[in-house]
Amino acid sequence: PPPDMPPSPHKSHFLQNSDNERVKVTVRSRPLTKAEESREDVIPVVFVNPDKSTVTVRRKGSFVDYTEFKFDAVLGASATQADVYAVAAQPIVLDVLEGYNGTIMAYGQTGAGKTYTLADVVINDAIQSRVEGIIPRSAANIFEYASNDKNHEYHISMSYIQIYMETIQDLLNPETTNLQIREAEDGGIFIAGVHEIEVKSLEDVVTLLMLGDCNRQCAFTKLNAHSSRSHAIVIITVEKKTFSLLDSTNSSEGRRISKGILVGKLFLVDLAGSERLKKSGSEGLRAVEAMSVNMSLTALGKCISARADPSITHVPFRDSKLTRLLQESLGGNTKTSLIINIAPCCDHIQETLSSLKFGIRAMKVGSRAILNFEEEFRVLNRHLQENTQSKDKQAGN
Ligand code: ADP
Ligand code: MG
Repeated sequence: PPPDMPPSPHKSHFLQNSDNERVKVTVRSRPLTKAEESREDVIPVVFVNPDKSTVTVRRKGSFVDYTEFKFDAVLGASATQADVYAVAAQPIVLDVLEGYNGTIMAYGQTGAGKTYTLADVVINDAIQSRVEGIIPRSAANIFEYASNDKNHEYHISMSYIQIYMETIQDLLNPETTNLQIREAEDGGIFIAGVHEIEVKSLEDVVTLLMLGDCNRQCAFTKLNAHSSRSHAIVIITVEKKTFSLLDSTNSSEGRRISKGILVGKLFLVDLAGSERLKKSGSEGLRAVEAMSVNMSLTALGKCISARADPSITHVPFRDSKLTRLLQESLGGNTKTSLIINIAPCCDHIQETLSSLKFGIRAMKVGSRAILNFEEEFRVLNRHLQENTQSKDKQAGN
């Protein structure tokens, strides 16, 4: 083809990101809760070092028996939601706005601060300082960026699902109870039939988040179960109509693309509690729940280990719905930020150590995100199609 022709825009992936990237891991150690502070037997055993990239975990009362771990970043009790966003989320969100896929995932035992880190929303804004988590901050970032960019047209949509006992439920459409994961022709993973709702503002996102949480709580209350036994996943899709794009990774050729859509998908994942569940006493539903959480987090660990070791060629993505869905986040076409949430006190030291070790393994996972390029607004088109189909049906065609 002539040099100024775009290389087949039908192929959705063609611009290779030059950096050899890997999963970035941030540790966040939460402050002691009021209840923990009031107990004399609770002492802090987790210490964030001044270099902000290493953390030391001591055995209770011991100055000899300690372990030090190094990560991309370590944030302590004094870190604000803004600090966490800047370190562990913003770089990924900016990439999504450029047409890459991104994943931000929180791992840790129940009570360690995963939901606070990701989804905390301050609704009553009477207090001036907002202390929101990564999901609302990401949305705010995306809408601000889109509204300041007069050269592109944006379509932004959101899905909210949970994986509970190996079934995928649409939290924005509770009638659907068992959604299926499918693979697109280009190898991309998607959830067939999931609601993708167009969002035009931060308020839209917060409203859907609250609706989804409400559906989630209702379902769990009915089952007399707890949401920490499921993985909650928000997916924000940014579609961006591009008129002219210079391929900066290969400027000698100066490839120009005259039109097309860049698609960036952001996965925000609040994983089920990683604590090992006591075998005794759990039976019936509790036992099945525990088994499926263990299974999916074990599968996640196995996939991470497999990806971290170049000699292993088989990665067991199909072992669980979670790993199947996150397939691209684990060394595929996604930039991934993993947040390890830990509690600072002595009674959780075993879980803390096991979470930190999980994070260390994840740092070895490489990724290669590539720009996603489409010819038309995908989500918009699908909605148009669905509308026409339902109109056809109504018209008796
Ligand atoms: P998880 O989702 O991991 O089970 P949560 O996010 O629900 O844990 O946190 C447990 C409790 O600790 C909540 O009451 C939450 O508000 C509080 N918490 C967690 N992290 C922080 C933090 N960094 N600063 C203040 N409070 C926090
Ligand atoms: Mg939680």
